[in-house]
Amino acid sequence: MAQDNIIDGKAFAADLRGRVGAAVAALVRDHGVKPGLAVVLVGENPASKVYVRNKALQTAEAGMNSFEHKLPAETTQQDLLALVAKLNAANEVHGILVQLPLPDQIGDHAVINAIDPAKDVDGFHVINAGRLMTGAKGAEAPLVPCTPLGCLMLLKDRLGDLSGLRAVVVGRSNIVGKPMAQLLIQESCTVTVAHSRTRDLPGVCREADILVAAVGRPQMIKGDWIMPGATVIDVGINRIAGEGGKSRLVGDVDTEAARTVAGAITPVPGGVGPMTIACLLANTLTAACRQHGIEPPKL
Ligand code: NDP
Repeated sequence: MAQDNIIDGKAFAADLRGRVGAAVAALVRDHGVKPGLAVVLVGENPASKVYVRNKALQTAEAGMNSFEHKLPAETTQQDLLALVAKLNAANEVHGILVQLPLPDQIGDHAVINAIDPAKDVDGFHVINAGRLMTGAKGAEAPLVPCTPLGCLMLLKDRLGDLSGLRAVVVGRSNIVGKPMAQLLIQESCTVTVAHSRTRDLPGVCREADILVAAVGRPQMIKGDWIMPGATVIDVGINRIAGEGGKSRLVGDVDTEAARTVAGAITPVPGGVGPMTIACLLANTLTAACRQHGIEPPKL
């Protein structure tokens, strides 16, 4: 099977990070503004620690300030809200990201909605979700959740105009499925959102020109669920047992089978994953520009 139906998210993300870095350098040179991203980690979740470390490294590589705040697992919601208030008021901080999941004693919604929407680079605040849903533009344009934004960039890079295409998004979470569907509606796709109660999921998937899988179930979507020639975006990151007692990462799609049918597919790893942090950097740049009344660059 030829490699050219594999969508190389790793290369696209590296290129995007380079473009963000160049735009950051121009912002510093022309306006004296250095974007700053604050990342807050509560507790010791091993996967979250890896994500936070990578975010900090790539933020610094793009020429931005990176502020890391590590809080103990027993931190109260009140203490976390106090830190968020401090970051909201800090001029050098243009983006705030509170790493999820949070410990049980802290309510996700209370914390996310306490972040200044202008600094909500994850795009999870209800104001940004509402602006995305209503198609707000210009100064009112939302900060868009990073993972679906990255998926859309890969789709447009591959397919160009998405208008009129049939898209199926499997998964309806607030962080991936729902914003993905909104973005595809804005691109004039005909969108179906499937979930755990969907009847005849294979049949629904088979209607898709664009199939986005954001489920969290290893290799659930089989080759014969895919319309020949479809573009498949696999958001899933699942760790399963591999050879020799080691574990390995797989997506929500049976990639090997899907590759023989799909027009193009993102691999796991190396597909959507690297796009998420690259889009976080892009959102931080956008947020910094807007906070200083500067038109954000087209990336
Ligand atoms: P959630 O668990 O929040 O949502 C999963 C969705 O899948 C739900 O809407 C659920 O339906 C649906 N679902 C579960 N089982 C089935 C099934 N058998 N058939 C159809 N639909 C089903 O997950 P997330 O959206 O947060 O993440 C999804 C995946 O994407 C995970 O693997 C996660 O690790 C990965 N991810 C990757 C990122 C990246 O950077 N690449 C970033 C974020 C997530 P229902 O609502 O009915 O329960």
